[in-house]
Amino acid sequence: FSEERYINKDIIMYNKKQVIKNKTIATTVEHFNRVSIEQFISWLTQELKWAMARILFLLYGGLAMISFGLTAYLTAPIGSKLFFGTWKFWPYLKYYHRIIIQAYRVLWMMLKDNEYTFLFAVPLTSEPRRGPDRNFIALSGNWIHEENTCYGCVRCCEKISCPLLNKKEGICVGYDSFYWNYFLCGRYPFTQKQIDYYACEKWRIKYDPMD
Ligand code: SF4
Ligand code: SF4
Repeated sequence: FSEERYINKDIIMYNKKQVIKNKTIATTVEHFNRVSIEQFISWLTQELKWAMARILFLLYGGLAMISFGLTAYLTAPIGSKLFFGTWKFWPYLKYYHRIIIQAYRVLWMMLKDNEYTFLFAVPLTSEPRRGPDRNFIALSGNWIHEENTCYGCVRCCEKISCPLLNKKEGICVGYDSFYWNYFLCGRYPFTQKQIDYYACEKWRIKYDPMD
């Protein structure tokens, strides 16, 4: 009997998820229906702009990796703008070799374990973000602090050994930079897998778009 109850519970959960998905699809279709041609073109332009920016960034990073960091040092102001939000590169030169090593490390982890890509997979055309998408993500019920603080926790940054984490002060030196906004950090979290991986106590998923 109890097994049957569990099965029923699973079916109810599944149906609930389906209803949410269907509603989301219906709302999205409705939304697209109201989009004018001008809006569509401007939206497309935005999407292309974001994708282009990411592709250029990845090419820049790829070049730096192939040249063992040489191109990153030769174009230091560009790297500084991308990772630290300023052309004044000299205070940040000490981070350059750490970023290159981290890039090799992440690439190696991804090649070794396909599952690892879920941590870093950000769609090329997605908008840059300065916080998680609150349509899908909510503060966890156990989180008693303000939304704009992690209250000293740096677990997710430490777990991937991020070179931009200033451990002494517990701050991110790349906060709000191009890299931060366009890639994982600004939009974290966006899947349950990420929350589980980092054992993050702050966020919970309302609806997982990857499900
Ligand atoms: S928030 Fe900053 S320190 Fe943390 S992972 Fe992102 S870039 Fe690194
Ligand atoms: S694991 Fe969660 S609470 Fe901790 S720093 Fe990351 S986002 Fe903040």
